[in-house]
Amino acid sequence: MIFSKPSYRIIDMPKEDDIYFMKLALEEANLAFIEKEVPVGAVLVKDDKVIARAHNNRETSKDPTAHAEIIALRSVTDENSSWRFTNATLYVTKEPCIMCAGTMINARLGRLVYGCRDEKGGAVDSLYKLLSDKRFNHQVEVVSGILEDECAGILQRFFKILR
Ligand SMILES: [Zn+2]
Repeated sequence: MIFSKPSYRIIDMPKEDDIYFMKLALEEANLAFIEKEVPVGAVLVKDDKVIARAHNNRETSKDPTAHAEIIALRSVTDENSSWRFTNATLYVTKEPCIMCAGTMINARLGRLVYGCRDEKGGAVDSLYKLLSDKRFNHQVEVVSGILEDECAGILQRFFKILR
């Protein structure tokens, strides 16, 4: 399903577009929260259109790879006729792990926008810097800190309930 953005179209996505799409990713994180999953959401955008949206589903699916980013990249069919996502931007509420960052390199993702850092598992800035590592044949443009407080807040609320 394609969700069109209701406003204007700009080639160089300005920050307000990033905020708009991150809000959608937060909606996905909220769905995960309701399903008692660690609340992380992802939205994949191409040509200003949302081509996939997903949230963490690891507990329900009993699948260790069922992170929001992986599900989003795997669920695109018609709108992306290739495994390459060079012209796409992936919005994720939390800094991606090594598996997801690795998948982004393999998918030749053009741009990643994430909300809050993950000091214990982040592979983009915190523990590793996989997406800017020149030893790989592809680097991903990264923007971080978009709606950081909201993205971190939903995780904090979730883990507070668990304790
Ligand atoms: Zn991950």
